[in-house]
Amino acid sequence: MVEALILKNMSADIISGKAIAENLLDTELVPRVEALKAKGITPRLIVILVGEHPASASYVRQKEKFADRAGIVAETWRYEDTVTEAKILEEIETINQDDSIHGVIVQLPVPDHISVEKILRAIHPSKDVDGFTPQNVGQLFLGEESLECCTPKGIIRMIESAKVDLNGKHVVVVGRSNIVGKPVAILALNKNATVTICHSRTKDLDAQIAQADVLIVAVGRPEMINGDQIPEGCTVIDVGIHRKEGGGLCGDVHFESAVKKAKAISPVPGGVGPMTVFCLIENTIEAAERLKV
Ligand code: NDP
Repeated sequence: MVEALILKNMSADIISGKAIAENLLDTELVPRVEALKAKGITPRLIVILVGEHPASASYVRQKEKFADRAGIVAETWRYEDTVTEAKILEEIETINQDDSIHGVIVQLPVPDHISVEKILRAIHPSKDVDGFTPQNVGQLFLGEESLECCTPKGIIRMIESAKVDLNGKHVVVVGRSNIVGKPVAILALNKNATVTICHSRTKDLDAQIAQADVLIVAVGRPEMINGDQIPEGCTVIDVGIHRKEGGGLCGDVHFESAVKKAKAISPVPGGVGPMTVFCLIENTIEAAERLKV
């Protein structure tokens, strides 16, 4: 029941990524895992975690919990922050060669002496469940089937679950990172949206945002976009996540003012974050399904 996932509000509808992810877990992921298990395959995900980053530890726990509920195996391989780049590359090669492992991610950030580019490129594209390798990114840009980056994929699933048809809509993306802004723009384009990508050098950001039917904000700046900038009837997806000084979390959008203007809005927490975790587990299942049995 998609309607139950969109909480009707006095002002904007709240697009609950958490409720959508929970619903898709039960209706899609669990049956897919059961079908794989019936063929003797249990999807297995390895999370490589280097050092003691507190936020990373919490993200990894969320991934392990969700994987467990889907019925797949998720293992975290932990390393001291002094571990060498060569050792991590060696571990990735072991994983690449191991047929019982279907997906691997390296939890970012990693210490400065380890090249993110090098380790991500070492992952075999068929096990790249974060969708970060050049091959998967390239296939996504070509509109070919691939393991798609989790956050952008989750954003599109969320918009669709909120019954917003992207066909012919004007999507404005604020942010052009390789992990969010650029890929989500391409996914929206592949859904026949007209897409504008904004960044720190964009002139007159307000004028760009004013055209949006759907606004996706991934700037990494707490509450940068407020209700005054949001056009009536706009669907707003807030990707940002920040710890507030007095406790609690906020996004890149000022929720209290935005909720009065938007038609629908995703909250922080409980919005894009759970959809990202959902897509990681879905990608691991997809990687296992692609094996020829
Ligand atoms: P990056 O820092 O890599 O990119 C930020 C982008 O925002 C850049 O393209 C930058 O432009 C642009 N930008 C910065 N300031 C402005 C400005 N004043 N006006 C217009 N554009 C601006 O961030 P990410 O894409 O990695 O992440 C964005 C946010 O999303 C963060 O808060 C992050 O924590 C969160 N996030 C959440 C995830 C989740 O699962 N919920 C997953 C991934 C990220 P330029 O390129 O010109 O510098």
